[in-house]
Amino acid sequence: MRHYICLIILLSFLKTSFASGPWTEYNNENGYQAGNDAFLTASVVEDQLILTVPEEVLNKPILFIRYDQSGKRRFMQVIWSLHGDRMLLKVPSIRSTAGIILPIKPNLTIEENILSVFPIEQKEMDLDKYQIDITALVLHQSIEWEPGFTENLVPAITLLEGAKNLEDEVIIKTRRGLVMGESKVSLPTFYGFSALPDPMRARRFDYRMGFYDEETTGIHFWLRNSPANISRWRLQKKFKDQKVSVPVKPITFLMSPDIPKKWRPYIKAGIMEWLPAFESAGFKDALLVKEMDSLDEWQAHSIHSNIIYWSPNKYLRGSEYEDYGGTVAKIIDFRTGEIFRGDIFMGASERTVMEKYFVRAAPLDKRARRFPFPDELVGSLFQVIAAHEAGHIFGLKDGNYGEFTYPWEKMNDSLWLRTMGHTPSIMNYSRSSNIPQPEDCISPSLLVQKVGPTDRYNIRWA
Ligand SMILES: [Zn+2]
Repeated sequence: MRHYICLIILLSFLKTSFASGPWTEYNNENGYQAGNDAFLTASVVEDQLILTVPEEVLNKPILFIRYDQSGKRRFMQVIWSLHGDRMLLKVPSIRSTAGIILPIKPNLTIEENILSVFPIEQKEMDLDKYQIDITALVLHQSIEWEPGFTENLVPAITLLEGAKNLEDEVIIKTRRGLVMGESKVSLPTFYGFSALPDPMRARRFDYRMGFYDEETTGIHFWLRNSPANISRWRLQKKFKDQKVSVPVKPITFLMSPDIPKKWRPYIKAGIMEWLPAFESAGFKDALLVKEMDSLDEWQAHSIHSNIIYWSPNKYLRGSEYEDYGGTVAKIIDFRTGEIFRGDIFMGASERTVMEKYFVRAAPLDKRARRFPFPDELVGSLFQVIAAHEAGHIFGLKDGNYGEFTYPWEKMNDSLWLRTMGHTPSIMNYSRSSNIPQPEDCISPSLLVQKVGPTDRYNIRWA
């Protein structure tokens, strides 16, 4: 029975997609389908983490991810490969669809590196599956996630806490003992192995536009073009013949339950400010934001979840006056620039957004002359941050493009401000406008930064 099912799956795979990895089949209606048991599976047996590697996964790139407590996402493409009676976890250099090789380490021309070597514990003969013990990999190995990355491990406070097999990914939960500064800490750390889809059709990098390249830390500030892809989402029209169609799969954000209820509508509104930009690119209802009463920890660490977090630092003694703004973390396919997952961390506290706005806008907005400000005003300031960080999630960088480019006389022209904003992009650091004078009677709603014409143009271009 089992072989029969496997045969059907194999045949349907051959029929639908030649280039697809055998364990995920891209389905236009529903996104990625489960490859049943054809992907990796993990189980904890007597405190050891046993990974089952099916034959179909061998020699295919998959994604290996680490979710740090700090919010950082470290990730690399890896390959499981047989070597005699051992299993290798290899790191390949990546051939970008932009026609360039991304090296494993700068200036190193090797095709692949070896991250770890495992004896094969057991082979299930009938099923072509190999079992290996990867406990040491996730608990005790200092993995070089980026060139030069090192950690000072503390094995005594390192623990394996569980594993979960989802549709096309494996998630592993640990506590990682580390020396940080002068302290020893045991930090919740999750790992994921995730199937990679077919490479998407990419958009070539152009330094004149506002996008990061696929590595996001690399070449995007050079004033020349290099072979690279921009980072963006795989949006596909559900109805290809329509000029504007709903996407097959909208970009969906989950709001962490930690976000105070009264601020949630504003944060959602910040994301939704981008809807017209996606509409101009041919996508109706491209974005979804869901409020969550609770967030399952496995779902929170799935590559398919994009989460808006409410950074707890603002309540911590010593960092309660955190700087204005927020930050983001992304997981990207280096082959094409496809963004798989994007998280937003709302950093600023209520007090910070109020103080920053007070300095700029109190003469122009009487709501800002008394602390605390009304919720409606504080909420609109959180909305600005959410909109800016969402721009990063969509692949845009802090470019400070368009700052100071509008004509001076338009800064107190209400009609202009309503359509163009006081600055052309939410991605620059203009902040609230302090240029109009009280006698100009500019509505305070026109003082705050919004997704602007440059942002819409960027999304349409991408
Ligand atoms: Zn930014």
